[in-house]
Amino acid sequence: MHILVTNDDGVLAPGLLALARELRMVGQVTVLAPDHNWSASGHVKTMHRPLRVKEAVLADGSPALASDGAPSDCVALAALGLLPEKMDMVVSGINPNANVGHDVTYSGTVTAAMEAAIWGLPGIAVSLDSPENHLGLLDYGTAARVARRVVQAVIRHGLPKDTLLNVNVPYLSDEAIKGFVVTRQGLRVYRDSLVRREDPRRRPYYWIGGETPTGVPEDGTDFGAVSQGFVSITPLQLDLTARSALAALSHWDWGEGAGA
Ligand code: MN
Repeated sequence: MHILVTNDDGVLAPGLLALARELRMVGQVTVLAPDHNWSASGHVKTMHRPLRVKEAVLADGSPALASDGAPSDCVALAALGLLPEKMDMVVSGINPNANVGHDVTYSGTVTAAMEAAIWGLPGIAVSLDSPENHLGLLDYGTAARVARRVVQAVIRHGLPKDTLLNVNVPYLSDEAIKGFVVTRQGLRVYRDSLVRREDPRRRPYYWIGGETPTGVPEDGTDFGAVSQGFVSITPLQLDLTARSALAALSHWDWGEGAGA
């Protein structure tokens, strides 16, 4: 079992080290991750500039590769032959914040796993629902052990075709975790606000600021599960078709002009 470990926080992020160390108990691990933070960068394919890959060293002294591309570029580089050995699985994380609901479309952590699905590989994204205003270093131990259990389950069962897993872990001890539940995407509530300031030359600039997002803690959803102390495992697919809208749109009148 050859596992590619990547993330969106950069190759030196502590969550990646915790994940890589834990997954070495399951198989051979290669780390290829971005050389800087790509959080909330979405699903990227870098096409208009070259990509560089450099050797890096993790905090435990183990070797890694760092690319100036996005998380999804790292997965594509590996799939296209950058690594001498074929990989069997991609695990991305551990992100220091939850990726639930609409977050999955912004998340570099999740889009790395999406890229794995595009290449026909099992992809798993792992995020830690750390508390707002947490000070000091986060403990990734529980989330890393959860990630190993998920990886082992995927090895045992295999993932359905074109499916990736989005895993969110509550910030609790191993004993306090209530269990694993399979969920659907919930609803995030964003509280963004526009901050307008002036630069030293008195030109305006804008920041998208505001409060940390919350969510609707509905049963059966990712956000609901982690807020109740469960590990949330959401199977995702890249087919974003709004199936419930197909029938209604098929009856629309598209007007006159081009086309029959
Ligand atoms: Mn991140």
